[in-house]
Amino acid sequence: MPSGVLYEDRQLGPFPLQRLKRVDRPTNLITGDVKRIDGRETAFLRAARGDYGEAVKRESSRRSRKYPLYTAQREVMYHLNTIKSNDVAPARAPIPEDPKVLSRHIKRLGYFLKADIMGICRLPESAVYSHDNQGNPIDIDYPWAIVIVMSKERQTLNASNGNDWMGSPLSFQAYQPLGIAAHTIANYIRKLGYQASAQTAGQYQVLMPPLLLWAGIGEVSRAGIILNPFLGLGFKASAVLTDMPLAADKPIDFGLQDFCRQCQLCAQMCPSNAIPMGDKTMYNGYETWKLDERRCASFSMLNKHGTMCGKCVHVCPWNRPYAWQHNLVRWGIERSSLARSLAIRADRALGRGKEGGNDDEKWWFDLEDVDGVITIAH
Ligand code: SF4
Repeated sequence: MPSGVLYEDRQLGPFPLQRLKRVDRPTNLITGDVKRIDGRETAFLRAARGDYGEAVKRESSRRSRKYPLYTAQREVMYHLNTIKSNDVAPARAPIPEDPKVLSRHIKRLGYFLKADIMGICRLPESAVYSHDNQGNPIDIDYPWAIVIVMSKERQTLNASNGNDWMGSPLSFQAYQPLGIAAHTIANYIRKLGYQASAQTAGQYQVLMPPLLLWAGIGEVSRAGIILNPFLGLGFKASAVLTDMPLAADKPIDFGLQDFCRQCQLCAQMCPSNAIPMGDKTMYNGYETWKLDERRCASFSMLNKHGTMCGKCVHVCPWNRPYAWQHNLVRWGIERSSLARSLAIRADRALGRGKEGGNDDEKWWFDLEDVDGVITIAH
């Protein structure tokens, strides 16, 4: 029996994923009636098209040049997205065809490339967009999705108040290395003789939330996005689709459905009232707290004091660092509704989440490009 990191169930990355409770299905109800979504119907593209009004359309068109740091990041990301896929090698590499070994190999590669969390799931057909941004039908058929997760930089996340000038840069600070990791892994898999496709910001052919659910990265949250027990809402993800034989991870259950039902902090603090205060509802076959995308996107585009908005990410109590005192709370939350209720009350009593950013750690300048001139933003 071979031994070593590829053959044993030891921890591969920075977080103890092996301690999470695994379940057969995601903790929110998913019916069989999930329709594929047209990539042109996402909130940002609808905003750009004018579906949310002329003012939102106008601000959407200058979003990419509004803040110089974000513009710089986008330009680099654009270059990443022009990477051409190499051909699949004609012969398979002489490596074990054991799905478990290959999965651990690819996950370890992800951690080598600075991922914070790696997961694998079968690719649900309904997670593939029906059409891309240009309206071309998407016809892809891969059995597996490798999910790569990277945290937003914690110091800056804490220094930001959630809807200031670092909104978009915080996202792209994660999207850039995610793009490099996804393209590298896809390129490598093709060199081993398997099909692979990198899914990165600006050119996703798949919806990431279903992949995050099925690969055991997180649960559906009230904020309408997937929440991870170690990173909260403060992360971004990319994926590699492949036919390399892999082993799927299972979804996780860390008590979030009950926690979000009781918590409601993001809904109370959302400046656009886009997050519902009430119960989950069914949307396209998914039981979820349905975000009002029009309100969220409109506020983000029209934000006069920053780029985008991530207030929900900023206030969420799950953003506490991975340290023993918070881990103790996480342990209790996973196991008991009473612990969830106490944790929420303690968080409120300490006034956490209501505070703005940590000004002492603010390292960026508030600048705005107005008609091609960089000015001090107000
Ligand atoms: Fe859930 Fe509270 Fe975080 Fe909102 S702020 S996502 S309700 S835990």
